[in-house]
Formats: sequence, C-alpha cells, structure tokens
Amino acid sequence: MSAKPTPHVAVVGAGVAGLVTALRLVGGGVRVTLLESSPRVGGKLRVSEIAGLPVDEGAEAILARRPEAVELVRELGRGDDLVHPGTTSASILSHGALRPLPAGQVMGVPSDLRALAASQVLSPAGLARVPLDLVLPETPRGDDVSVADFIGARMGREVVDRLVEPLLGGVYAGRADRLSFESTLPAVAAAARGHRSLINAVRGVRAKAPADPGPVFATLPDGLGSLPPNIADAVTEAGGEVRVNATVRELRRTPDGWRLTVGSARDPEALDVDAVVVACPAPPAARLLAEEVPAAARELERIETASMALITLAYPASAFRRTPPGSGYLVPSVEDRQVKAVTFSSVKWPHLRDRDPGLVVARASIGRVGEEHTLQRSDEELKAAAMTELSVTCGVAELPVDARVTRWGGALPQYDVGHADRIARVRAAVAAQPGLAVAGAAYDGVGIPAVIANARSAAGRILEYLESRGETKNDGEAREAEGARP
Ligand SMILES: Cc1cc2nc3c(=O)[nH]c(=O)nc-3n(C[C@H](O)[C@H](O)[C@H](O)COP(=O)(O)OP(=O)(O)OC[C@H]3O[C@@H](n4cnc5c(N)ncnc54)[C@H](O)[C@@H]3O)c2cc1C
Repeated sequence: MSAKPTPHVAVVGAGVAGLVTALRLVGGGVRVTLLESSPRVGGKLRVSEIAGLPVDEGAEAILARRPEAVELVRELGRGDDLVHPGTTSASILSHGALRPLPAGQVMGVPSDLRALAASQVLSPAGLARVPLDLVLPETPRGDDVSVADFIGARMGREVVDRLVEPLLGGVYAGRADRLSFESTLPAVAAAARGHRSLINAVRGVRAKAPADPGPVFATLPDGLGSLPPNIADAVTEAGGEVRVNATVRELRRTPDGWRLTVGSARDPEALDVDAVVVACPAPPAARLLAEEVPAAARELERIETASMALITLAYPASAFRRTPPGSGYLVPSVEDRQVKAVTFSSVKWPHLRDRDPGLVVARASIGRVGEEHTLQRSDEELKAAAMTELSVTCGVAELPVDARVTRWGGALPQYDVGHADRIARVRAAVAAQPGLAVAGAAYDGVGIPAVIANARSAAGRILEYLESRGETKNDGEAREAEGARP
C-alpha cells in the first residue's frame, strides 16, 4: 500500500504571525510553504543601523509578563540574549510640560488619587472630577462601549484625553471615542464588571499582579528585528520553504483543498495545497477571502487601520541641554503637537548606550488614525517636526549626526467598539471552510505575545483538521518521513 503524501499547507504573510504559524506547522509534521510579498520576512519587525547602532524601525519590545514571546526567543536558542529596559519611567506632556506618568495607573486608568494629583497631568477641575467615580451609580455598558464613553462617564473626559488615549495611542494610534473598552482594555473591562467604581476595579487588577513580576519588557541587543530571520531559519531547517517576493493574489477552493495564485499578473503561478493560513493584515486578508468567504471578507474590510511614521534621530549627548526624561514621553492629541510620542532608545535600552555612550538616540512617532496624509510629507518635513519637538522639550539646538524616517502605512488595526463580535463572525465564517484559518494582529491583540498565541492556535486548528482527514503523522513518523526525503 503506498503511503499518503505529507499534507502541504501554505501560509500567507511572513510577519510574526505567519512565521510562528509556519514553525508550529513544520513541528506538526506537515510540509509548509510560507509566502511573503515583500523582499524580507518580519513584517512590522525590522531593524537597521543608525549612527552605527542597531535600532528597530518597528516593534522594539516584547512584553515579558506574558510567556509567549519570551518562550519563542528561548525556543530559538536566544534566551541568553534577552535584555531589559534600564528604566521604564515615562512622562506625559500635559498642559505644556512633561509630567511623570502617575503611579498606580493601568493603561492610563488611575487608581492612586494621591499619585495622580502629584503628577499634575490633570487640571485642578479634571482632578476634582475623578473621585466622583467612587460615588456615581453603575455605568451601563451593554456588550461593548467606547473607551471614552465608559471611562469618561466614570472619571471625566480629562482622564480619557490626557492619560488613557495617549497610552492606548502607543498601541493602536487610535481615538478613544472609537476604540472598544472590552477589546483594548480587557483586564480593566473584566474587573469593571465586578465593581461599580472603576478606581476600585483598577485597584483590583493591580492587586492581582504578582509581588515581584520581574521586568515588564525585553528585547534583543541587535534589535527585535533580528528575530524573524531566526524563525525563518528554524522553519527552513525543519524542512519548510520560505519564499519572499511572493505575493499571493488569489485564493480559491479546489475539490481537495485550496489553490493560491502567487506572483505577478503577467507571470502567475498556481500553488495547490491541502490547507492555508491567511496571516496577513486585515485589508489584504479581506481581498484574498472575498471570493470564497465573503462574509469574513466583509467584516475584515471594516477594520480600519492607522498609519504612522517613526523618525529616529541620533545626537551627540552634549546636544541635550536638558537630560532626556526617562524612557520617553507621550503627547495627548489635545496638546495639538505634531509628534505623538518620543522614546529615548539609548536611555531605555542600556545595551545601546553602552555601545556608544556619546550618543543619544530618540525615536519620535507621528500619525494617528485618520491622519494618512502624515505619510505623504517629505522625509525632511518629518525630521524637522521631530527635531522641533526635541528642541522644545529637551533644549536640543544641534543637528542630529544621523536620521532615519520609517513609514508604516496601514500598520495598526483599530479595535473599534464591537471588535470581539466582529472577530467572532470572521472566525465562524472561516471555520465553516475546511482547511482554512486566519492569524495576525487584526484578531486577538496587536502585541507580539498575543499575535504569537493567535498564530499558534491557527496552526493548531489546521493540524486538527489534517488529523481529522487522517493526514498528519505523529512527530516521530514526521521526522522519519523528513529523513526519507531525497
Ligand atoms: C511602528 C510599530 C511599533 C510597534 N511596536 C510594538 C512593540 O514594541 N511591541 C509589540 O508587542 N508590538 C508592537 N507593534 C505591534 C506588532 O509589531 C504587530 O502587531 C505585529 O508584529 C504584527 O504581526 P503580523 O504578522 O500580524 O503582521 P505583519 O507584521 O504586518 O506581517 C504581515 C506580513 O504579510 C505580508 N503580506 C501582506 N499581504 C500579502 C500577500 N497578499 N501575500 C503575501 N504576503 C503578504 C506583509 O508584507 C507582511 O510581511 C508595533 C507595530 C508598529 C507598526
């Protein structure tokens, strides 16, 4: 009797989601082809040198308090390389001055009224409004509500504008009026179901945190952008194929599985597989699913994205007349400044400072949802905006020794009110299609650990499906089959 051929799975998109999906699938004994449209793997993880230092152009930190990302780094044999921030003390630019982020907050939602007062982030009237939360009747919220509506009703609009929106802005570059309370602040939203007061709910969240939780963030000394090639190598070493410059343009069902159309319109290639994981951002995922899963495509099309630019500047340390205040600062949109956040990379990450103590590297970000025109401004204009910001806050009067502009178009999916229900509808439509799964930042969280978890479960669903068709081998058989290949 001839053995069944090893099942073949295509993964579309080689960001963290696609890479992790592919790694899990090759580990499960299937043949994998990972297809990436750009010339490089990694998606939003990318590193390049500025003034001789490796500084990330996109994501720079992994949350170390969730296990997934740190475990992945260890799995890839780089656990000993992990480094942590030298400081996480951040500020908020509020009422024209930098103020410390108040102790006791969770994603900007305060719980320590004394620390909030001491920070001077809020005006006296804004501060006086906050404790009303302790006496106000319950705020009805149905299945979901916007961050601004719920937190504004409990604590007043200033908390939304000057604390919560800037902090959420670091993750979504979004507007609190539209972002979902349930999906963007899940821990606080869950706790708030058990407390009438939001202050007490946040206190409850903080009380549950472990006493010595260790560092919050981690990165790699040569940049987080050095991780994707490691994952791609692990996929290849396990027998998978990683193809770059391979855009998937169409996805159609076949009697036995799926046919992908890959490459240019002039020279298309058909790739027939048993199963497929669509691990690209919502807009291209919607296009790929439009023919075969229109219900999922319609929902994905409605997920808005925010575009942003990151301007990285390297200065001689002597250029700073005022010491960079901690790891960086956030600028609320009500302050009406061009820059929405600044990270002092060489203060935050001691490994960068140690490599060149004479330099200060700062990363300024510009652009919130609905401000796509930001990306159309010239590099010179964007650099000038970042330089002006640093001259105002840190007294920097010199020109940088090196500067870099990175544009991220449509980079951050917006988890608007109703996001969880939308994703449930996408999942239901996708699950009805045999051998199809979706993964990526559009679904269950944009942070890298959440994307890893989501990718692993997408791969798990495909392995279960193949197993139900009697097509996967157990690990031992899979390795034998790999060894038996010519
Ligand atoms: C500037 C910035 C900073 C961030 N900082 C952090 C941070 O510090 N920490 C953190 O945890 N998270 C951070 N994030 C979020 C996090 O980086 C992302 O949510 C995550 O990396 C997304 O991974 P992904 O695989 O879902 O998508 P992506 O990284 O977008 O990867 C998708 C890939 O699919 C490819 N693709 C698209 N269409 C096709 C097609 N038709 N065919 C083939 N390939 C296709 C794309 O080229 C891309 O490579 C940041 C995001 C940005 C934009």
